[in-house]
Amino acid sequence: METGIKIAMEPQEPLERPSPETGREPTKKLRTIGVNVRYGEALAVRDIHMDIPANRVTAIIGPSGCGKSTLLRCFNRMNDLIPDARVEGKVLFNDMDLYAPQVDATEIRFRIGMVFQRANPFPKSVYDNVAFGLRVNGFDGDLDEAVYRSLKQAALWEESKDRLKKNALTLSGGQQQRLCIARALAVNPEVILMDEPCSSLDPIATLAIEDHIRSLSDEYTIIIVTHNMQQAARVSDETAFLTVGDDNAGYLVEHGNTRQLFTNPTDERTEAYITGRFG
Ligand code: ADP
Ligand code: MG
Repeated sequence: METGIKIAMEPQEPLERPSPETGREPTKKLRTIGVNVRYGEALAVRDIHMDIPANRVTAIIGPSGCGKSTLLRCFNRMNDLIPDARVEGKVLFNDMDLYAPQVDATEIRFRIGMVFQRANPFPKSVYDNVAFGLRVNGFDGDLDEAVYRSLKQAALWEESKDRLKKNALTLSGGQQQRLCIARALAVNPEVILMDEPCSSLDPIATLAIEDHIRSLSDEYTIIIVTHNMQQAARVSDETAFLTVGDDNAGYLVEHGNTRQLFTNPTDERTEAYITGRFG
């Protein structure tokens, strides 16, 4: 099936999107309203108000320890799995309260998938890794077709089609990370969260994944945490800059169009960070 998604390594087009001025502002996929996260008594992020546009790539940048991963985990209730963590405020997903009691957090984590810093394929075959979530969810369609489509979307099909039965751990680091992306994509999520997905990869694998992230945003909403500002500038439509306050809690300084934030930030703390005078 042709999905219309371009595979990685094709020539890049400039990342121009319809701007709000054209009247085609994207809808808000996720919103945080006054979100605080605590670990025990310690406040880790404070009063985050953030809107995440649909079908765009949003980058979250900021110095180590400012709460990027903590904030990212709020978007698919991953903080629920950390015994000490407590999320206050509201997170809306398609305008629905993500933390409402009737919401099934496990289902949410399929609809809002996550790719981690280190590729974490299961010690199973390439095929079984991609098919995993579909089997868990009792998928009764054509599994071969779904695995093919996901590997194709993750720009891994050509490299893996002759080794689908091989253990995923025999793939290279970059291939394993794309396999984890394929695994997240297989269940047809609406959002993909990525926490420094390239930090353990070499520059070539990094570029392949960056290229791929851009093409995925045609169909998915993507939030990527990165400590690499060039990467944020290359892959994202919008960028959010967090920093740490005197109380050690992270907070949002500035969030807006990526090009504008990197060329003409409105806040001097952002400017200090992107010019390397801080962090
Ligand atoms: P970043 O991803 O920006 O480096 P994190 O979200 O990992 O920042 O961490 C933000 C703050 O929360 C840090 O002070 C960190 O020590 C603390 N923190 C993160 N995870 C935990 C945890 N599981 N338990 C206690 N404190 C944590
Ligand atoms: Mg982190």
